[in-house]
This record gives sequence, structure tokens and C-alpha cells, in this order.
Amino acid sequence: MNVRLAQKLIRWSKLNYADLPWRKKRSLYNTLVSEIMLQQTTVSTVKPRFLSFIKRFPDLKSLAQADEAHVLKAWEGLGYYSRARRLHWAANTISKMKNFPDTHENLVEIKGIGLYTANAILAIGMDKRALAIDANIERVLARYFGIYEFKGICAKKLTQEFADKKILNFKVSFRDFNEALMDLGRTYCRANKVDCLLCPLRKSCKSFKDKNALLTPKKVLKKKVVKEDLNILRVVFKKSDKYLFFKRPKGKWLQDQLELPSFIIANSKLKQYPRLKSFNLEKLPHIESTITKYKIKNYILNIDSIKLDPKRSVWLSSNDFKNHHLSSVTKKILNC
Ligand code: SF4
Repeated sequence: MNVRLAQKLIRWSKLNYADLPWRKKRSLYNTLVSEIMLQQTTVSTVKPRFLSFIKRFPDLKSLAQADEAHVLKAWEGLGYYSRARRLHWAANTISKMKNFPDTHENLVEIKGIGLYTANAILAIGMDKRALAIDANIERVLARYFGIYEFKGICAKKLTQEFADKKILNFKVSFRDFNEALMDLGRTYCRANKVDCLLCPLRKSCKSFKDKNALLTPKKVLKKKVVKEDLNILRVVFKKSDKYLFFKRPKGKWLQDQLELPSFIIANSKLKQYPRLKSFNLEKLPHIESTITKYKIKNYILNIDSIKLDPKRSVWLSSNDFKNHHLSSVTKKILNC
């Protein structure tokens, strides 16, 4: 690819996608937030949530000073909550620094910032020569250069060749270039469908010439996961107008999330909740949910007295729900 073709690609991108909210008002903070949100999530899902998140936490300081529970609440609808925690950790660390780190080495040292995010901050936030190889960029460049390898291996090859300046060795705005490649990957050069005739790169795209764009990156076939059935007892304890919750312990799965008291029934190896050897579930209503490899029946038990550990007990009225991140299962149960 030469500079003229890169500029053609950028012109196409700017004409069509310059109005994405994180592109309209640029800041390193906005780039940090949007790039973490966009990992594993589509642009259309991120758009409204980015705007409401930035309204709630307009800068690094406000995010760093927020309670994690409020950050998780503002993240609702985006899923993969570990990203919200990573963003919060990163904001905490960077807000204590004199300046926003501006080298790859310094960025990846920050808890919460991985290789991809570091490259995205350098390229998109700072307009430096860097390549933020997400799935879209990996796919477009593997096809453009005709690298027929497995997903992941294409990314490694591209990373190395880019670092050695064997590819993409021209002067261009790397912010615009990275964004244009991402735009192309989610529009004309998708994983299972290509619209090469509309693509600004088609004249020198190797896999278009070879008529085999869909052959790369090769997919690693995943084993079909057989879901394990699981019964969980969810206890709804209401005293006057407040419900009892407990906070998941630090350092454990879903740390700090508020949950209804929950117990695993019988013989699963899952250790996330205390286990009850047996419990008569027959007359209890239930709702179903799935998480990772588990198909769960959530049995709902309403009770009116219980002995409590005051340190881990949290009482919330239904008016408080909007201020806390509760899982969708919990919300469904409380709406029963
Ligand atoms: S020409 Fe086709 S395969 Fe090549 S980059 Fe464009 S959309 Fe992808």
C-alpha cells in the first residue's frame, strides 16, 4: 500500500464516519473510554452508552474518584464488566501521574491497559505511528497483503512487519489510517461477507485479486461446549421496603457485585456460591438463565427472617436499584 491509497481510504472514512461521537470531540480520555468500550462490542451499541458514560464521568479525575459500583452501573448494556474495572484502574493510575503516558512501554505498565489499548491510545489518541490491531484491522490487512493464516498468527505477522517497517511505511495520519481500517473491517470487509466492489482498496488488494478474501484469517474451530445444568437457590429477603443483598468478595469472580443471597444446590463443582446438599425445590418458581458453560435454573425463595453477617449485608430499596449495577437475573427475579 502506498501513501496515495492510504489517503484514498482515509477520505472514504472521513466522508462516512467522521461523526462518531468519540471522533467529534477528541481527547486522550475519550479515546481511552471509547477504545475499551469498542472491544468486543459493536459501534451501534457503544454510541449511546459512550455519550451517557462521558456525561456521567466527563474526565479522568471524575472517573478515578468514582466508586466502582457507580462505574459498573454506568457500564450497563455493554457487558464484559471486566473492561469497566480495567478502565477504572487505568483512570486511577493515570490521574495520579503528571502527564498521560506517551510510550508503548509506559502505557502497558498501567494496570488495565493491554497491548491493543496502548496501541490505540498512541495511534488514535496521539496520532503516532502505531497499529491497533483489533479483529477488523487484522482481517483487512491480512486480506490486503494476502496473508493466509489463522486468526492471531496474521496479527503477529502484521505486528512484526509493521514494527520492522516492511509494511505501511509512509507518512500519513496514523489516527485517521487506523480508524479508516476499522471502518472498512466493519462495513465492506467483514468476517463472513465482503463487498470488494465498493472497497477503496480493491485495486491492489491481494485476496481480491486471488478471489479468495473469505479464506483469511482462517478460523480456529471451537469445540462445541455442552452446557452443564445447574440449580441455584436465590433468596429474596424483604424487610419493610428494603431487600437484602450481599457484595461478592474482592479478588473473586464478579468482585463487588451486589447479589441476592444465592446457594448452589447439589453436586456442581462450581464454587462461586455456598452449596446446599439438598433442598426441596418442587414448589418454588424459577427463571432460567445461562452464563459461560452453565444452563441455570434460578429458584426463588421468599423469606422473612434470617441470621446475617452485617459486614457483607447490603440493604437496598427498589428506589436504590438505579444506583447499583445488578445482574439481569437479579433484576428479573425482583420483578417477579
Ligand atoms: S478488496 Fe475486498 S478483501 Fe480486499 S480489503 Fe477490500 S473488502 Fe477486503
